[in-house]
Amino acid sequence: MLIRLFDVHIHLTDFLGTNPQKLIAELKANGIEKCVCVTAKPQDWEKAARFAHDFPFEIIPSFGLHPWYAAKVQKGWEKELELYLKEFNGAIIGECGLDKLKSTDISKETEVFEKQIELAFVYNRSLMLHMVKADMWLEKYWGRLPEKSVFHSFSGSVEILKKIINFNYYLSVNKRFFSKKDAGKILEYAPMDRLLVETDAPFQSEIKDLKTVVQNIAEIKNESVEDLAHQIYLNAMDVFVRD
Ligand SMILES: [Zn+2]
Repeated sequence: MLIRLFDVHIHLTDFLGTNPQKLIAELKANGIEKCVCVTAKPQDWEKAARFAHDFPFEIIPSFGLHPWYAAKVQKGWEKELELYLKEFNGAIIGECGLDKLKSTDISKETEVFEKQIELAFVYNRSLMLHMVKADMWLEKYWGRLPEKSVFHSFSGSVEILKKIINFNYYLSVNKRFFSKKDAGKILEYAPMDRLLVETDAPFQSEIKDLKTVVQNIAEIKNESVEDLAHQIYLNAMDVFVRD
């Protein structure tokens, strides 16, 4: 089976004891031609920048501050983030968002998230969103996020999915999504042109799992794996690769 995949959420900087050459080779061996290298905190940014610089075709960098790290971040982080956005025209912002499950400081989380929304508009970039148990908080943000923002590791309800679609955003699913009882039902409501796939490796799944995710969706959507993979690849190109 010859398919091209685009992993829209992978933490390349968190694979320990391996180098980027090897990681890219592993991605390619699994049909993954391109990926979005996401980051969670300032300490990841320089490494991600180097990877993206060395592999400009394969890697789209995403610089951001994850809600888990919002409370402890040092002053001036947003200025540093801006430097990376200026350096990489094709970079997006994230992962960022709201996490009510692990929240320690809601006001700080909100402040950090809003700063990143602001930067997304200033620099015309998409957001890679991490939203956990945040349905209530999200209410005030619908329609205030940049177009083509991505709800990563989607595991919400049909109701949330409908909002994502209505506001022109995208959803990305990984292996864990399919352990949900109603995964099939939820995906029925997801138009083919808004679907993306991810590994979130090395955390939520492995690089080799991406193919299975596409196969699972193809089965649910009653599509050929080849056609579906192609469509999802084009979706990712539309979001992440601008000319
Ligand atoms: Zn992640």
